[in-house]
Amino acid sequence: MTVRVRFAPSPTGHLHVGGARTALFNYLFARREGGVFVLRIEDTDRERSSDEMTAAILDAIAWVGLEVDEGPYYQADGLSRHRRDVARLLDSGAAYRCFCAPGELEARREAARDRGEAFRYDGRCGRLEAGEVERRAGDGEPHAVRFRVPAGATSWADLVHGEMAVEHESLDDFVILRSDATPVYNLAVVSDDIEMRITHVLRGDDHLSNTPKQILIYRALEADVPLFGHLPMILGTDGKRLSKRHGALSVAAYRDRGILPEAMVNFLALLGWSPGDDREVMDLDELVAAFRVDRILRKSAVFDPEKLQWLNGQHISRMEASRLAARIAPALAAAAHLEPSALELESERMTAVIELAKPRARTLEELVSQAAPFFAPEVEYDEGAVARFWKRPGEAAALLRAFAGREEAVDPWDAETLERELRDIAEELEVSAGKMIHPLRVALMGIAVSPGIFEVLELMGRERSMGRIERALGFLDARAAMEEGHPA
Ligand code: GLU
Repeated sequence: MTVRVRFAPSPTGHLHVGGARTALFNYLFARREGGVFVLRIEDTDRERSSDEMTAAILDAIAWVGLEVDEGPYYQADGLSRHRRDVARLLDSGAAYRCFCAPGELEARREAARDRGEAFRYDGRCGRLEAGEVERRAGDGEPHAVRFRVPAGATSWADLVHGEMAVEHESLDDFVILRSDATPVYNLAVVSDDIEMRITHVLRGDDHLSNTPKQILIYRALEADVPLFGHLPMILGTDGKRLSKRHGALSVAAYRDRGILPEAMVNFLALLGWSPGDDREVMDLDELVAAFRVDRILRKSAVFDPEKLQWLNGQHISRMEASRLAARIAPALAAAAHLEPSALELESERMTAVIELAKPRARTLEELVSQAAPFFAPEVEYDEGAVARFWKRPGEAAALLRAFAGREEAVDPWDAETLERELRDIAEELEVSAGKMIHPLRVALMGIAVSPGIFEVLELMGRERSMGRIERALGFLDARAAMEEGHPA
């Protein structure tokens, strides 16, 4: 038997963490088992679904690197089959027509509420005489179709939760076709899963209550029941159900914030699953190789945005600089105010800069902001960095001047020589090396944090470094003069 799984998102919103995790687990399982990963867009709710959201979901799935083997199929295309299946259920007596008007049902629901009871449909239309049903339906009286839940219980061996059983007493005869002849979710899903020969259904815990109803429909349609596995809920670090408050964003938003797809996939995989050893940093191939359904955890998973950042940093430092360069090139050109073609000319230096910056960057955005000063024609001074390390402009200028005065001694212009010279100067001036390094970093990079200053100087090159120190001196002298003129 070939394993066939599906991811079945409703295109009513962006792909979020929970949905993406479901997609990934299905994908990993399919790859692991040599199976087929099917994508089905559940667009039967015409009002809330949109083509734009469908496109966004497809985009997000492709971005994280999940290759779809079949589909996308569109649930709405199956409408006539859904209705045929309902007709079959009516023919066999597994379902019946319900003529109860919405207003009546509402009144009964309210009455139940007043009695403090949960409303359950009492099955009255299921007891109507065949002749009456035929006459009323023939007269065009509006009606829905309900599934006739038999006495007993439904059980299944859940791939995650183990043996599960639901007493039918807790279910009522649920609607499968609305009075406007549109199928409800449970019917459409089962009809589609049968049609698509789905063997395993992996989906969120929030679908647990649907599963017994769906199994009943499978049986009534005389179809094989797939195996079900319900993935644990995802909670925020405060133990509450995951929401925007916890910093949970759409997959696309993480992409826009400099998260690598490799890190995203890695992070999602660890939401409710673990490889069983102490590995944490894994790419998609490693995940496929390690994935086992029986290692999906029962207890809820915790969504920790810090962990995503950490994993992202790990994947950035794992990745070859040339690949990172290709990914950040457009953003880097924009941040450095350069034409992309100008940056291309510097590809070698770009790789070297990325090599230097990548061990400390936790997002691609950070990598871009660390790399941009190396290419920008003009350095931009960050206010925070100026306030912190150029607080006394006269003093900072004196230190930079001392360094500039020794430029000729730096030969060759490499990290080692630069470090030796700077330490010598610091010693002569009787200041710590740090005292010189911080103002120098602001002069070169414009920001307070960067890779080691000597490597920065080396990669920046003699000419550009000296130019920046020159410019910093102009800035600092002007500030110092201003402060003298207008003492605080
Ligand atoms: N379309 C459903 C949802 O987005 C999923 C259906 C299923 O997996 O059975 O929640």
